[in-house]
Amino acid sequence: MTFQALGLIAPLLQTLDTLGYKQPTPVQKQAIPAVLAGRDLMAAAQTGTGKTAGFALPILQRLTLEGENAPTAVRCLVLAPTRELAEQVFESFRSYGGNLPLRAAVAYGGVPIEPQIAKLRKGLDVLVATPGRLIDLLDQGAVSFKQLQTLVLDEADRMLDLGFERDLDILLAALPKQRQTLLFSATFSDEIRKLTKGLLKDPVTVQV
Ligand code: AMP
Repeated sequence: MTFQALGLIAPLLQTLDTLGYKQPTPVQKQAIPAVLAGRDLMAAAQTGTGKTAGFALPILQRLTLEGENAPTAVRCLVLAPTRELAEQVFESFRSYGGNLPLRAAVAYGGVPIEPQIAKLRKGLDVLVATPGRLIDLLDQGAVSFKQLQTLVLDEADRMLDLGFERDLDILLAALPKQRQTLLFSATFSDEIRKLTKGLLKDPVTVQV
């Protein structure tokens, strides 16, 4: 099985070749075609499985093929539990999207908010954020989700463990209902199942 067989476009294949990724990991084999097809996804995958490329590659491809040269609002939002993970996911989007004309930014707390506001004002294809800072940005009117196509909840179980449930409710209420939603979690507890209800529409289930 090759990345090409999964339906990825040439600029992404080139990047993967440069990075030395020879073949897709199991989670990538399952996730990439489903995300490219626009399906919702519920994936049980830990760090180290290649889950980040599993969502970043097909999202980058959809954003590229769907054109929109200068988005005025965020088209893809990735929520992550910690600034370290947010930074890591952002770097992945940057590295996989290196050959593509897309703009990405990361926003988390504990650092000044103004540079994040300035980036958002210019319009973004991908925003990676932690829940608390994103709520601050929403409160300040600095972020619009009217063009949002895809939402990713990364390490959803850790987000609940860290007490982000209320923040998630607030954020989810601010997003368009019509969208693609991808949820990644190391475990599938009752809490996670409760969260996925009403959030995911007929999801493809990925288990590795
Ligand atoms: P993740 O599980 O998303 O945190 O990824 C774990 C590590 O695996 C990262 O350092 C990736 O760069 C690397 N990686 C992801 N997919 C592949 C692949 N198909 N081949 C080789 N390395 C990969």
